[in-house]
Amino acid sequence: MSANRLTCEEAFRRLDDYLDRELGPGETAEVRRHLEVCAMCAGEFGIEAEVLDAVREKLRRIAAPPDLMAAISAKLAAARQSEG
Ligand SMILES: [Zn+2]
Repeated sequence: MSANRLTCEEAFRRLDDYLDRELGPGETAEVRRHLEVCAMCAGEFGIEAEVLDAVREKLRRIAAPPDLMAAISAKLAAARQSEG
């Protein structure tokens, strides 16, 4: 057990920062190292990372076209007006 530098709990605490890529190279390496030796965490983290990446990709696409943002704003404004 002591072979792992990070415990599962420690790895989980770093998960958010890891996914946000706010960890330094050393900490990222430690998290990756734990994932390589811990199948349970690797499975959980893999799923979370994929989900977050998919969400971020969608947000990027949505945020990209200004026309779409304008259309959404117009629809929101119209909806507010119709609700009176
Ligand atoms: Zn683990």
